[in-house]
Amino acid sequence: MKKDSIKTLFISELQDIYSAETQIVEALPDMVKAAESPELKDAFKKHLEETKEQVKRLDKIFKALEIKHPKEKCEAMEGLVSEGAEVIKEYEKSAVRDAALISKAQRIEHYEISVYGTLRTFARELGLNDIAKLLDTTLEEEGAADKKLTQIAEGGLLTAGINQRAHN
Ligand code: FE
Ligand code: ZN
Ligand code: FE
Ligand code: FE
Repeated sequence: MKKDSIKTLFISELQDIYSAETQIVEALPDMVKAAESPELKDAFKKHLEETKEQVKRLDKIFKALEIKHPKEKCEAMEGLVSEGAEVIKEYEKSAVRDAALISKAQRIEHYEISVYGTLRTFARELGLNDIAKLLDTTLEEEGAADKKLTQIAEGGLLTAGINQRAHN
């Protein structure tokens, strides 16, 4: 395999997102605890369960392609996760903290959306259609998680609206 082949790039991007996902699995329980709004708490809890499945999905891909688990940490995710941890440290439990948590969590989702979009394209390019489907499933979940956070921030059916309350 040529070092500069798309397959090599695909594998290295898969290893990067694997590291990112495992960091998210570690970070989300603190975000569940930190959220004041029950709706936000539930959204984080649900996405934690989804994220664990996403890691399993990646495990499947790694097995199918005989890829080694990453030795290197995704530094981008390390930074994004630490911004979330800062919010928890710096703010009291409040609607303002919820708004800040959503802001940090959406950065994480956007990072993931870009990576999975790229990975899906690479998989299709390489003719790995079953793997492309697995990546697409995760991409859909990341998109839905991001939309849910927007919906919570802009005020769901049962809430007064986090951004609204943060003004008081
Ligand atoms: Fe994820
Ligand atoms: Zn990364
Ligand atoms: Fe950036
Ligand atoms: Fe996610």
